[in-house]
Amino acid sequence: MAPRHKPRDVLAHRAAYGLPRDRLADRALDDYRDSAQRFSEQIDGEYYLHLSGRKRAFEIEPIYEHHAELFSRSAVDGLRDSLERASADRASGIRHLLGFAFEGHLGQATKREATELAELESSLEVTVDSSTIPYRGVMVAVANEPDAARRAAIEAARDELLVERLNPIHLESLQRAHELSRELGWASYRDAWARLRAIDLEALAREARAFVDATDAAYAELVDPELERAGVPVLGELRRFDLPRFFRAPELDDLFPARRLVPAFAETLAGMGIDLPAQSNVHLDTESRPTKSARAFCATPRVPEEVRLVISPVGGRDDYEALFHEGGHAEHYAHVDPALAFEHRHLGDNSVTESFAFLFEHLTEDPAWIGARLGVADPEPVVRHARAVKLVMLRRYAAKVAYELELHAVEPDLDAMPSRYAELLGDATRVAWPRASWLADVDPGFYVACYLRAWALETAWRRALRERFGPSWFETESAGRWLRELWSQGQRLDAGELLAETTGEGLHLGVLEAEFTPPPR
Ligand SMILES: [Zn+2]
Repeated sequence: MAPRHKPRDVLAHRAAYGLPRDRLADRALDDYRDSAQRFSEQIDGEYYLHLSGRKRAFEIEPIYEHHAELFSRSAVDGLRDSLERASADRASGIRHLLGFAFEGHLGQATKREATELAELESSLEVTVDSSTIPYRGVMVAVANEPDAARRAAIEAARDELLVERLNPIHLESLQRAHELSRELGWASYRDAWARLRAIDLEALAREARAFVDATDAAYAELVDPELERAGVPVLGELRRFDLPRFFRAPELDDLFPARRLVPAFAETLAGMGIDLPAQSNVHLDTESRPTKSARAFCATPRVPEEVRLVISPVGGRDDYEALFHEGGHAEHYAHVDPALAFEHRHLGDNSVTESFAFLFEHLTEDPAWIGARLGVADPEPVVRHARAVKLVMLRRYAAKVAYELELHAVEPDLDAMPSRYAELLGDATRVAWPRASWLADVDPGFYVACYLRAWALETAWRRALRERFGPSWFETESAGRWLRELWSQGQRLDAGELLAETTGEGLHLGVLEAEFTPPPR
C-alpha cells in the first residue's frame, strides 16, 4: 500500500559485539530485521487506522523518529557492505533490506517536501467558472464531467497550480534524491534502483518499446470504437483530460451492483477453496466511516498474521476493480509462509504481489467470471472497454519507463524534461499530453518497472491457469491450491525466478501482445 519505511543504527555498532566477523554481521542483520519488522507493524498499523477512518490524526512522524536508525547513512553503508560480502543465496534478501533502508533514507531527507506537498494537495482548490473543486478531487470531477470544454478548463486550472505551487517542491525533492544517490556511491538514482531491484531497466524499456511497435496497427482499431462510445474524440484528437472520462464508463456500472460486491469476492474465493469469513488473519473492513478512504486498500502490519482489506463501496465497476485488486494483494500476503525471513514476507520484488492483484482484478473483465458471478448475459461491452483501457495503459507505462530512465539518468537535462515527457507520453498514447505533470506523474523507485513486469507475469499466470484448470479456473479448488502454493513463497523469488520455477518460461513483455494482435474481428 502506502510508502513504508524508516529503522536503527544497529549495523554501525558491529564492532561492539566482539564476535568473529560473519557472526557479527549475522547478529547485526538479525537486529536490523527485527527493527524493520517492528517499524513495519507500527507504520502499517497507523496507515490502517488513519485511512480506514478509525483515527483522525495521522501520527507517522513519531514512528519514523523512533526507528530513525533503520534509515541512517550508516545503516545503508552497513547493508551495502554486507551485500558485497554475501554468498549468492543470501544476497537477494540483503539487497531487499538495502532497498528498504535506501528508500527510507531518501524519505527522511525529503520529508519536509513530502509534508508540504501533502498539505498543499489537501488544501488547494481548483476554481472553474464560479465553482471550486478540491485539488485531490480533480480526477473524479473530470471523469464525471460530460462537457469537454469544462473538462479542459478543470485540467488547465489544475495544471496551473501544479506548475506554480507544486512543481517547485517536487523538483527540490527530485534533485535531493538524485544527489543522495550519488553521495551514497551509486552513479545515479537510476543506477541505484536498477541494482536494488536487480532489474535491467534498459532491457525492460526496449521490450516495452517493442510492445508499442507491435500493437501500433491494432491500437486505433481497438480503441477508437470505445472512445466513440464514450463520446470523446478518437486517437490523434484525444486530449489527456478525456481519458478519465473514457476510463470511467458509467454506462457499465449497472452490471456491477454494489450489493453483489463483497458476496462476489467471497464466492470467488470459495470457488477456489478459500473460506474468506474463516480466514482469521484477513480482516475485512466494510463499515462506513466519515473519514474513511474512498479507495480500497490493503494494509499488512504483519505478514501473514495480520492483513487488512479495507473498502468503502459506493457502487459501480470501479469498486469491483479496486476490491479485487486489493483482495489479490490480501490473499497473496495472507498465505505467505510465516517461517520466511522478514525481507521475503514484507519486502522483495513487488512485481510478484502486483501480478496476483492484477490476476484478481482481471476477473472483473473476464467474460466467464462476469457471467458466472454477476449473471450478466452479454459481457462483451465490458470486455471490449477493458481491453481498450488496458492497451492505453500499457502504452502509457511503456512511455513512462522510457521517460523515467531519461529523468533519472546520470546528468539529466532537467530543462528539457517537461517537453520530453509530453513527447514520449503523447507519441505512445496518441493523446495530446500536457507537460505540467512531468514530475507529479513519476512513481518513486522505478515502481513503473514493477507494474510492467506484473502485467506480463499476470498474463503468464492466467494462461497457465486456463491451460491447467480451464476457462473457469476460478471455480476450481485445484486452481486455488496451485495459487496458494505460489503465494506461500511470498516474495522470496523475484518475478522471473518464480515464473521460471513454476512454468519454465522466461518473463517477457512480449506475452502481452497476444491480447491485442492480431485485432479480433
Ligand atoms: Zn497493487
